[in-house]
Amino acid sequence: MSIAENIQKIRGRMEAAAVKAGRDPKEILLVGASKMNDAAACREAVAAGIDALGENRVQEMTAKLAENAYEGAPLHFIGHLQRNKVRQVVGKVDLIHSASSMELLEEIDRRAAMLGLVQEVLLEVNIGGEESKSGFSPDKLYAAADRARKFEHVSVRGLMTIPPVEQAPHGNLPFFTQVSKFYVDIGRNLYDNNFIYLSMGMSDDFEDAIAAGATMVRVGSAIFGQRHYQ
Ligand SMILES: *Cc1c(COP(=O)(O)O)cnc(C)c1O
Repeated sequence: MSIAENIQKIRGRMEAAAVKAGRDPKEILLVGASKMNDAAACREAVAAGIDALGENRVQEMTAKLAENAYEGAPLHFIGHLQRNKVRQVVGKVDLIHSASSMELLEEIDRRAAMLGLVQEVLLEVNIGGEESKSGFSPDKLYAAADRARKFEHVSVRGLMTIPPVEQAPHGNLPFFTQVSKFYVDIGRNLYDNNFIYLSMGMSDDFEDAIAAGATMVRVGSAIFGQRHYQ
């Protein structure tokens, strides 16, 4: 199956999941997680009408940017972001999904101010409380979202989460539902209903994420094929 055919198939499944949940399919964006896929694969996805491409390694993204891999689609950064790499990302991407600490937000704000722009970000939520994952813990999220309003050069547009590896079918649905509640509460109470992105769901669980309210799913292997780690 080609990348274009895979995208078409995923779109069909997204639409069915939205309709089943009583939602408008048009409000859910498909972000192609293109890590370990080359510029040609990215261009194929753009030509097939992907809504955005998401990268999770700064070095790989920088190399592919130099090849114009993403031309024609918005570019997102979805992976773990280190403070010392912030300057290579701010202003280069339309949205950072992975703002995972106050210190990182401060650094993004500083860099965006230097460039004279406002960087759109999502706050990452470590919903499973896993050591190995970054993000705000659920009990600190509300206060962090409150404080993040002070930044002049960062605009928080919603939340993102990567739940634990699923142990059983639909195992992540409770996590998605929890994050969805935070998204609605924080958007309403702190952000004047200007929260528009709830980024959750990947190849194996995007339908459950849509059932819980996701407005953005990040799909990699189901579009580009299995990744071959060396
Ligand atoms: C790779 C990746 C995805 C997509 O994972 P698949 O299981 O291949 O769909 C989604 N989000 C992030 C942050 C990723 O790094």
